[in-house]
Amino acid sequence: MIAILSDVHGNEEALRAVLADCEQRGVSRYWFLGDCVGYGPRPNECSALIRARAEVALAGNHDIACVGGMDISPFRREIRTAWTLIMDLLDSETRDWLTGLEPQAHRDAEQSALFHASPRDPVWEYVEDGESIKGALSACDSRFIFVGHSHLPFAIFYDGGDTAYHRRDADGGWIDVSEGRWICNPGSVGQPRDGDPRAAYMIFDPAENRLAHHRVSYDIPLVQKQILELGLPESNANRLAFGL
Ligand code: ZN
Repeated sequence: MIAILSDVHGNEEALRAVLADCEQRGVSRYWFLGDCVGYGPRPNECSALIRARAEVALAGNHDIACVGGMDISPFRREIRTAWTLIMDLLDSETRDWLTGLEPQAHRDAEQSALFHASPRDPVWEYVEDGESIKGALSACDSRFIFVGHSHLPFAIFYDGGDTAYHRRDADGGWIDVSEGRWICNPGSVGQPRDGDPRAAYMIFDPAENRLAHHRVSYDIPLVQKQILELGLPESNANRLAFGL
């Protein structure tokens, strides 16, 4: 079984809670879809935890921004302030590791392609509506496509016809994936945006052809305190309580 994690965003408490949940479920393999840093207060700690475990780790847009890999001047002031603060926090090991990551990877043994955002634009495009789902399915022919970036958990099934079907089981039950093609988002570990503040991740079991979404509670007030202590924007702390 493989745990698929994305969008940790420097939230060490959420990440530790997810890793403990994975261990309890007997998961020992990890794939990470990017955005280890950005928004949250513990970028180095999160990078070390992912680095030690992930068979494959991708770069997200925040990771690229926080190692100086893009021009951040067009972004909102609040985002730029957070990125600059986080950039200063990064130790050299974290910076080197993040700089070496790519925003996409293929795992042929598991018929899988992994993108931080989408197959058409691995760094920026949100896969969230019919057009972007169709675009993703035609740009990549892997049977399983895993994306992060939108922070919204989903599992979409495509049987080769005109329609893609939403098959997410919100209760964490197994979804049978023995047929068709799938495009899935595990949701966000460190900053969920679907109205549920608990950390989100997914387990993929290629041997049994099944996958499941899971949610895990963690100490949100502690992370809010860490965010404010560092002088990161207050909204980064407030939104965690609401999952927005
Ligand atoms: Zn993100």
